[in-house]
Amino acid sequence: TPALAHRAVTADGIDADMYLPHVAKPVRAAFVVLVRNSELVGMKKAMRQIEDRFNGKFNYPYVFLNDVPFTEEFKAETTAMTKANVTFGEVPQEHWSYPEWINQTYAGECRQQMQEQGVFYALSESYRHMCRFNSGFFFRHPLLDDIDYYWRIEPDVEYSCDIDYDPFLLMQRKGIKYGYTIALHEYPETIPTLWDTTKAFVKSNPGFVRHLAGYSWLSNDGGETYNGCHFWSNFEIGSLAFFRSPEYLAYFDYLDRAGGFFYERWGDAPVHAIAAALMLQKEEVHWFEDIGYYHNPWSNCPLSPESRLRCHCDPANSAVHHYWASCTQEWLALPDNNTTLPAGVE
Ligand code: GDP
Ligand code: MN
Repeated sequence: TPALAHRAVTADGIDADMYLPHVAKPVRAAFVVLVRNSELVGMKKAMRQIEDRFNGKFNYPYVFLNDVPFTEEFKAETTAMTKANVTFGEVPQEHWSYPEWINQTYAGECRQQMQEQGVFYALSESYRHMCRFNSGFFFRHPLLDDIDYYWRIEPDVEYSCDIDYDPFLLMQRKGIKYGYTIALHEYPETIPTLWDTTKAFVKSNPGFVRHLAGYSWLSNDGGETYNGCHFWSNFEIGSLAFFRSPEYLAYFDYLDRAGGFFYERWGDAPVHAIAAALMLQKEEVHWFEDIGYYHNPWSNCPLSPESRLRCHCDPANSAVHHYWASCTQEWLALPDNNTTLPAGVE
């Protein structure tokens, strides 16, 4: 159809039926949203844009998750935003609480110390449960049992371009396991021991690393230290099979035992990204350059005039221009075939 001709992705060889609402060949996929009752209005704003820009046509279901029951008001008002199927689930208690090996007194002291260092969310316990849940548990929720791909959304995010093809189908067809819009550097104070813990894990599980070039994306000194590069996980379109794999589960388990979700403030974004960089091939990770997206304070906006015709973002503000978000360019610059380990990595 003529409306499609301007889309940059067409040049990338996407089949024409990628643009059609796929009645006959659905991908088992859903929007997955962890959200609080208090964020109802922001949630509706995000849904309005998702529906107008994409889902009004494609009709993927929403799965809402919460650590406490959703209010009737939240359920009624979000359900009213879409004609797609909407379900609401509670996070099981064991996915949102302290494991028995965590010293909660010590965790409290660590929070105080991080507060003195000026770390965002330093004192918050719920933020840590949230990051741990998104790192190791969301994909195990029973409401996702029949789902192969998820698209994470948050309240108050903006979708600033029409998305007239199906990103889930793109991923399924091209074997993409992880999609992102913005890749940034992490604040080192939130993850002081994450990299050393990762290296210790890899030492006893060398098969975990199937993409050696991932090291040169994660580290500027041959694997010695982590440079903080991660995909900003408030936007994610991913394969659940990746997270449900024994390799990822073993990695999460090891991290969880080490306690950094509570003694530090490990985010799900660096955890997902380290796993993706080391477990997946370059082509299995996709930058959705054409998806206009905003989450305070960063945005992604297509650069080419043709793909921007139906956007309301300013390409000059696209994070990819910024040194703090150079991780996207660095991923794109990785070699396609990587067979040698960087110096310093055994
Ligand atoms: P930030 O993006 O790192 O500043 O963190 P957010 O406050 O946006 O939290 C990330 C996501 O988790 C958002 O979708 C929030 O709605 C959700 N979230 C954060 N904390 C909680 C919580 O305590 N309970 C629930 N149900 N959702 C939460
Ligand atoms: Mn957020």
